[in-house]
Amino acid sequence: MKENANVLIVEDEHDIAEILKVQLETSGHNVTLIHDGSEALEFIQEQSEEKKIDLYILDRMLPGTTGLEICKFLRMFKKTKAKPILMLTAMTLPEQVIEGLEAGADDYVTKPFDINILKARVKNLLRRSQLSIGEESSEEAILAIKGLKIDTNQCKVWIDENELDLTLSEYKLLVTFLKQPGKVLTRNSLIQSIQDGPVHVTDRTIDTHIFGLRKKLGDYSKFIETIRGIGYRVVAND
Ligand code: CA
Repeated sequence: MKENANVLIVEDEHDIAEILKVQLETSGHNVTLIHDGSEALEFIQEQSEEKKIDLYILDRMLPGTTGLEICKFLRMFKKTKAKPILMLTAMTLPEQVIEGLEAGADDYVTKPFDINILKARVKNLLRRSQLSIGEESSEEAILAIKGLKIDTNQCKVWIDENELDLTLSEYKLLVTFLKQPGKVLTRNSLIQSIQDGPVHVTDRTIDTHIFGLRKKLGDYSKFIETIRGIGYRVVAND
């Protein structure tokens, strides 16, 4: 995994911005700090090929342009649409968090935050973006977390040497999770990933499938983290 990523932090609270910068630099990253939303948008459009940003950390409430608007722009802009975005927010209501995720953020941290948690999230998101680059170039058919393996050509799943017997919905959910470690998946996005034809899938159906999947995964179920009121995230730490 690429250790020294280029990170852009857009945060108008100078104290928080400085702490983040110092901490991420200690982890080996190159950090650019911008305090204003509109300035950030200009910077994003003008970034050079050599110094492309690998990860964006956006505060939600900013002068100029809000973090949500920047997020939507990043997802539409060709150069940035696949880059990981971590949203910082003082708003903790599930609806507000979901709004950020649906604007295109991959993960979020609520303020006040623990710096170690933030660093772990950054690491996960960078890992995820490295994985998806690998996937494009080699069309990798095997997805894996440690001993848990999916062969997407054969639609088969194993834990170590034992093949699992999953339902189609459980299988689709597991593939969705393993393709996007570190990303928070809302119930809505999970519904879309298993929706097939006119069958009506509800929030409750998703929870039922996840319950079933977790049971079959045994020890590996701990990789699927529940985020109350919002959805799920797969944590793939070493
Ligand atoms: Ca702010």
